Amino acid sequence: VSGSSLLSSASCKYSEVEEDDGRILNLKFGDPTVYERYWQETGEATTMVIPGWQSLSYFSDNNNNLCWFLEPELGKEIVRVHQIVGNAVTQDRFIVVGTGSTQLCQAALYALSPHDHSGPINVVSASPYYSSYPLITDYLKSGLYRWGGDAKTYKEEGPYIELVTSPNNPDGFLRQSVVNSSSEGILIHDLAYYWPQYTPITSKADHDVMLFTASKSTGHAGMRIGWALVKDRETARKMTEYIELNTIGVSKDSQLRAAKVLKVVSDSCDSETAKSFFGHSYDAMSKRWKLLKQASKDSKRFTVPDFASQRCNFLGKVFESQPAFAWLKCEEGIVDCERFLREKKKIITKSGKYFGDDQSYVRISMLDRDSTFNIFLKRITSSSSSTL
Ligand code: PMP
Repeated sequence: VSGSSLLSSASCKYSEVEEDDGRILNLKFGDPTVYERYWQETGEATTMVIPGWQSLSYFSDNNNNLCWFLEPELGKEIVRVHQIVGNAVTQDRFIVVGTGSTQLCQAALYALSPHDHSGPINVVSASPYYSSYPLITDYLKSGLYRWGGDAKTYKEEGPYIELVTSPNNPDGFLRQSVVNSSSEGILIHDLAYYWPQYTPITSKADHDVMLFTASKSTGHAGMRIGWALVKDRETARKMTEYIELNTIGVSKDSQLRAAKVLKVVSDSCDSETAKSFFGHSYDAMSKRWKLLKQASKDSKRFTVPDFASQRCNFLGKVFESQPAFAWLKCEEGIVDCERFLREKKKIITKSGKYFGDDQSYVRISMLDRDSTFNIFLKRITSSSSSTL
């Protein structure tokens, strides 16, 4: 696989980018289209043909897994990729597959909430937290769980569930649980971004419930495949039960495709000659972050966080996190950063207020295509308030 064109336009200086045609840039979502070119250049290796007679059954064949709808091939490739990257313990873990990690997050809340009559358990996460957490916790007004707000200020007695996202969406920092009251906290670790293109892999994560997703690891968000690594059998059984009740399993076509994509990723890491998928995507993210940091220094109108350097066991080098999102702060007295960027720069972002934080912050996707990213950089560094 040639990586040259994958990186070519991201590596140019931001003053030498594509023409800005004045279009609206939507960087509000973490749509991972940055990976599109890599997969185009990988060619046929991930192409699949599915005959009409396949995937008729609800059940997965020869599957001794507790999660009865998990395709064995996908289970095997999940274990393999984690072993190669070294980012999570898979030994003695149950794998539960889900329609994205969004479904698994809800399955975990269902599985970990007390099912007695003690009333809904509080679900908390430290601000700035992933904006979907309060929404997916409360949209059905469950009797089992309810949103309890910012974990940093949570003081209630009794059991609670804390969602720990590391690296964090939106700000990219590595995290641990923060509620420091009792031993009654139940933790769900959302490790969607614990992959070497975003942050140094320093150890194998070893938590009770760990959530991963194809959306942010390989960039296949549209495939809608996530997986949970779960220590406790009963928790895994209840998560499986939730998915059974919710969707009677997970698309087999998607699972088979995810297995193939993960296999190609792992094969690329095993290859002696070619650069791995993670090597390519690390380079792309690294170039983008260098350009963004330089732009921030030059313009002085906005800042982005600084990250500590750590050694990555997988890539064998020391680097700073280069997250999937930029948590950008508007300076110079701009109170509503989202509005400023929308009205003056035609850039659609997500305001800090949705993440339980301040309006002077916005979250900006770093995962869009090169052309969009380059125009974005050009616009935020230009002093003109009109983008054209
Ligand atoms: N967790 C986090 C922290 C995320 O950022 C996302 C995607 N934005 C998800 C979960 C959901 O991912 P999926 O596409 O697998 O549902």
